[in-house]
Amino acid sequence: MASSRRKFIKEATAIAGTLGIGSWWSKAWSRPPVSAPFEGSGRAAMASTWNHGMLANDEGFSALDAGGNALDMIEAGARLVEADAEGLSVGIGGLPDRDGNVTLDACIMDHTQNAGSVCFVQNVAHPITLARKVMEETPHVMLAGAGAEQYARELGMKPTNLLTVKARKAWEKWQTTSNYEPVINIENHDTIGLLALDHEGRLAGGCTTSGVAYKMHGRVGDSPIIGAGLYVDGAVGGATATGLGEAVMRTVGSFLVVELMGQGASPQEACYEAVQRIIRSMPTDDLQVGYLALGRNGEVGGHAVHGGFNYAFHQRSETQGTVQRVLIDASHG
Ligand code: ASP
Repeated sequence: MASSRRKFIKEATAIAGTLGIGSWWSKAWSRPPVSAPFEGSGRAAMASTWNHGMLANDEGFSALDAGGNALDMIEAGARLVEADAEGLSVGIGGLPDRDGNVTLDACIMDHTQNAGSVCFVQNVAHPITLARKVMEETPHVMLAGAGAEQYARELGMKPTNLLTVKARKAWEKWQTTSNYEPVINIENHDTIGLLALDHEGRLAGGCTTSGVAYKMHGRVGDSPIIGAGLYVDGAVGGATATGLGEAVMRTVGSFLVVELMGQGASPQEACYEAVQRIIRSMPTDDLQVGYLALGRNGEVGGHAVHGGFNYAFHQRSETQGTVQRVLIDASHG
């Protein structure tokens, strides 16, 4: 297997040379296969979008200390933010669509390219856990709407009213000024995207959101779409997105970031380039998108279309006892 792959790479590189397409081709094919053995660098790391990423990462490291792996770090961090009724963009308390329904999207992915996702779900308090169940307990990757809710009930998840008084009041106020139009803006984009690396070198990622506020009923953003809002390649790294999902989906952003990393870009360079794709392909005055990436050795990077994007980064080497915690402003990255 390994020798036929090597032979293929050698031949492909020779062909690339005669075609004059040079070094990026050979770099692209020299990345380790996804089935490469995972070697822990002895470093554990977690990166999550926005200020709430600090608490999510703390929770992720608690899950690690309790014996969990990278996936457990992701699920624990995401659940903490989903449960915060004060947050207006994730889980309970999320702003509703223009008809007053809170509809949630989430996905999760591991280092072996297992993935699970749920979209357009109502009354489910922890879509990240439901997405993980889809990944681990079903033959599918994605469940939507009523079918996902039915599966949640089958799992014994109690239906929960997600529309808080605070969110309902904000929606009622919006109705008085909006003409019932969904509006694109650069303010409402506090989805949490999370990436984690455990001491054994396993990577995982997750993303959970109530999506764009006052969207049309039925609208699904990038956050539950594997390749758009999240992508993980255990041999390379992971990436996640926050901001206007339509721009991320149109450019398959997170997959792009990870592919660029697989071709040799640092997480920072890859996020920068994925942002340029958006800037080059559509007007960006009214939209914000931020990317966050974590390499398989724990290196981190992030970049956004406009200033104001930040992310939390925690790391700990096996030899160090304490977790280093930083909140990074990606505006100038
Ligand atoms: N990316 C999310 C969406 O488009 C929004 C956000 O980041 O808050 O649904």
